[in-house]
Amino acid sequence: MVKLLADAMLGKLARWLRLLGYDTVYSQAEDALLARQARREGRVLLTSDRELARRRGLRVVLVTSQELSAQLAEVIGAVGPLPAGTPPRCMQCNVPLRPASVAEARPHVPPYVARTQRVFQFCPHCGRFYWKGTHWRKITARLAPLSPADEGHASPSD
Ligand SMILES: [Zn+2]
Repeated sequence: MVKLLADAMLGKLARWLRLLGYDTVYSQAEDALLARQARREGRVLLTSDRELARRRGLRVVLVTSQELSAQLAEVIGAVGPLPAGTPPRCMQCNVPLRPASVAEARPHVPPYVARTQRVFQFCPHCGRFYWKGTHWRKITARLAPLSPADEGHASPSD
């Protein structure tokens, strides 16, 4: 499974790649350390820095767009989509999310969300709950031609 390393300029991109299921480390380290970490951990380096992208012995995706969904399309186009059913990862922790029932989610989410959403996931590391809000749907709709990843992950409440 592809592993990614996003440089300091690409924090927002890194968070969304995690939500789409990509194992993505975000680092604000300087270029030499980034390059070393990418090699050591076998990660594809994501950067907007042409100098850094030219370093030898690295797999690099040069991210040229300023706009999030276009950046996601650049990265997914280069590294390929994940297998269908790959769980999303926590935007903060990069840990795979686990399904949660509505009853489990209810104490942790706003009341209107508990009333209207059926599918929840939570991070076993930080305990954050996730659901597919409008922003997520907009992003995944724009990426749909690129990725077979299904919209509905298994939910115990289904
Ligand atoms: Zn987390």
